[in-house]
Amino acid sequence: MFNAVIRRWFAWLVAALVVCSAGVAEASSGHKVPDLRQDPTKSTRSRAATIKIPLTVHIAASEEHPLATLRRLEQAIERANEALRPFQIEVVIHEIRQMPEGFGSITRRRDRRRIAQYAPTDGSVHVFMVDNLELRGGRRGDRSVRGLHWRYRGVLKRLRQREYVVVSGDAPATTLVHEIGHLFGLPHHDGEQNLMCSCRRGPLQIFTSGQGQTIRRGAAAFVGR
Ligand SMILES: [Zn+2]
Repeated sequence: MFNAVIRRWFAWLVAALVVCSAGVAEASSGHKVPDLRQDPTKSTRSRAATIKIPLTVHIAASEEHPLATLRRLEQAIERANEALRPFQIEVVIHEIRQMPEGFGSITRRRDRRRIAQYAPTDGSVHVFMVDNLELRGGRRGDRSVRGLHWRYRGVLKRLRQREYVVVSGDAPATTLVHEIGHLFGLPHHDGEQNLMCSCRRGPLQIFTSGQGQTIRRGAAAFVGR
């Protein structure tokens, strides 16, 4: 009789503990879900769809010969996707165009405006691969002479919303993704291991998770506009 009571009580206790731990599991997962969402590398992997960014690549030419090789372009795109993958963003080539003669060297404000005519607001990111890039008289924009993110800030209707990036002939493979970072809203960063540092060197630079979130917001706004 005593044993039977003990057994029944024990069975009840086990059942109560199971219910209780289930409650705890539910409660803790209920708390953890929002935490996971704050971590872009986890939330994007499990929940968010990949944002694909089409690139229209314009290759400058001299005497009808392209001034950049497809290999250089591929390396820059591979490097960009390596950095963007943790945030579920991918850049893909939409189209490659050869530019007319006369755009191998982009140095003056006038040159930057002239190439804007080739960068209509068509849902793609326009990338110009030129031989030489200098920022003579450029008050704003990237200080580096190997890459540039240009956005029109004036009042001319024909140039409204126009923006593009330029990569020079001596740019490292990280320049394209650095400029795409600017295009999607990132400022410079001081860390040598950060892709948004002008001081970056070597193959190991990354975006922080905070930068990844900013880029993702920028990319979503870009494809949705
Ligand atoms: Zn920059």
